[in-house]
Amino acid sequence: MQTLVWLREDLRLRDNPALHYGAARGEITPVFIYPESLGGASYWWLHHSLKSLEMAFAEKEVRLILRTGEPEAVLLELADQVEADALVWNRVYSPKGIEQGAALKESCAGSIETRSFNGQLLIEPTEVLTKQSTPFKVFTPFWRNCVANLQPKEMLDIPNFTPTSHSIESENLDTWGLLPTTPDWSAGIAERWQPGEEGAQQRLAVFLETVISKYADGRDVPSEENTSMLSPHLAFGEISSKQIWVDTQEAMASRQVSSDNGKKFLSEIGWREFSRYLLVHFPHITKEPFNTKFENFPWHSDSTLLAAWQKGQTGYPIVDAGMRELWATGYMHNRVRMITASFLCKHCLTHWHEGMEWFWDTLVDADIANNTASWQWVAGSGADASPYFRIFNPILQGEKFDKHGEYIKRWVPELAHLGSKYLNKPWEADEETLKSAGITLGVNYPMPIVEHKQARQLALDAYASIKG
Ligand SMILES: Cc1cc2nc3c(=O)[nH]c(=O)nc-3n(C[C@H](O)[C@H](O)[C@H](O)COP(=O)(O)OP(=O)(O)OC[C@H]3O[C@@H](n4cnc5c(N)ncnc54)[C@H](O)[C@@H]3O)c2cc1C
Repeated sequence: MQTLVWLREDLRLRDNPALHYGAARGEITPVFIYPESLGGASYWWLHHSLKSLEMAFAEKEVRLILRTGEPEAVLLELADQVEADALVWNRVYSPKGIEQGAALKESCAGSIETRSFNGQLLIEPTEVLTKQSTPFKVFTPFWRNCVANLQPKEMLDIPNFTPTSHSIESENLDTWGLLPTTPDWSAGIAERWQPGEEGAQQRLAVFLETVISKYADGRDVPSEENTSMLSPHLAFGEISSKQIWVDTQEAMASRQVSSDNGKKFLSEIGWREFSRYLLVHFPHITKEPFNTKFENFPWHSDSTLLAAWQKGQTGYPIVDAGMRELWATGYMHNRVRMITASFLCKHCLTHWHEGMEWFWDTLVDADIANNTASWQWVAGSGADASPYFRIFNPILQGEKFDKHGEYIKRWVPELAHLGSKYLNKPWEADEETLKSAGITLGVNYPMPIVEHKQARQLALDAYASIKG
């Protein structure tokens, strides 16, 4: 028996239902097809993740096949070449992923067995509905329902593979050109991350052993690493959410992890589930507002404001720190993602599409479901969103969550010598203070690109125009 296993967002050997199924039937041919529309930082991650997967398969004498082309045609051709009698995959919950899976099943009907698995979520989105059989639109009841219905989970071990017997060649990963060259901007990203399944396993282990003890209280402090940093590993499926669930529950049961920290962390995994759930039930939300009132929102397109935001040159230190962390490392702390996104949508009145696209290109954890749901949430147009009129004040947010200014000083070194009184509002400092801190506003650090109170009022006026 020969099974073709189509890998996409599941670049791991452990707890991988499609691989497990194929290996139980006999020989497998795992295949990964070049994805057309990732962002630059994700391509960097993908390169290293595939390298690590290739090696992991090679240790088991299994060859990973890389191919370029339209997925259905590639898979059917390859199935023919290796004489596969089954084609299997783990489901992807984006609109495109769902469409591809359905089309493939249809074109294979009657010729080759096809089977798809849930390798990505704790609960299948179609299995969770309200009493009225409609989809949940609010997180808390959704998650309560999920937790109540979660069956005890069993992890799938790395399967016993049959060595590859055919001689079909793979494309060479290095010829895919996934890494940046001119210029190579990836040094800071490489320093921070270890892509691949082993990197993911280590992150989870370290997190559950030590870091999680500060999770509930410290997850909003951007200067400290108090969160799991598992997001890119999850986005590429290098670790399963089921393993995260099982290991965290075990750590709570043995009292290694407190219930407060464990539950809070798992509820964030719940937000990941909710984002995918929303995308399955409301696939239009990658482009259209979830809340239809926002269809006529008077977004304002200003390329100067957008460019200043992208470069971390807004004049608001916490916003600039976040945007620079993102550029340097492919990651931004969650609290700061909320602050920077709110600033773009509300202070600059720039459409969330623009911010979402920039994040898509620069985040190593760029994920269509989390990115869409989070941007809509911040913009006020999403499911269970914070009300539009709640506008983050970037000065107060910085003072509250970066109390000692460590995060700002790390990412905005121009302000390293400014005392905490003015760190979040350097334009209010007197000349003497600025001079002794080595700052000349408008020269080595920008003046604010918008004035907070005025921008806030404009945002409220814009909101009032659609409230009706
Ligand atoms: C504007 C904006 C855009 C975002 N874009 C993305 C994105 O493209 N990809 C992405 O993975 N996350 C995104 N997030 C959510 C969140 O910021 C990151 O998941 C989190 O910062 C990752 O760090 P961590 O793994 O240490 O998180 P932890 O706090 O350790 O959380 C564990 C996991 O839960 C999931 N998670 C956490 N918060 C959220 C959330 N609010 N929504 C959905 N899932 C969540 C992630 O998979 C994360 O790895 C975005 C948030 C905002 C405000």
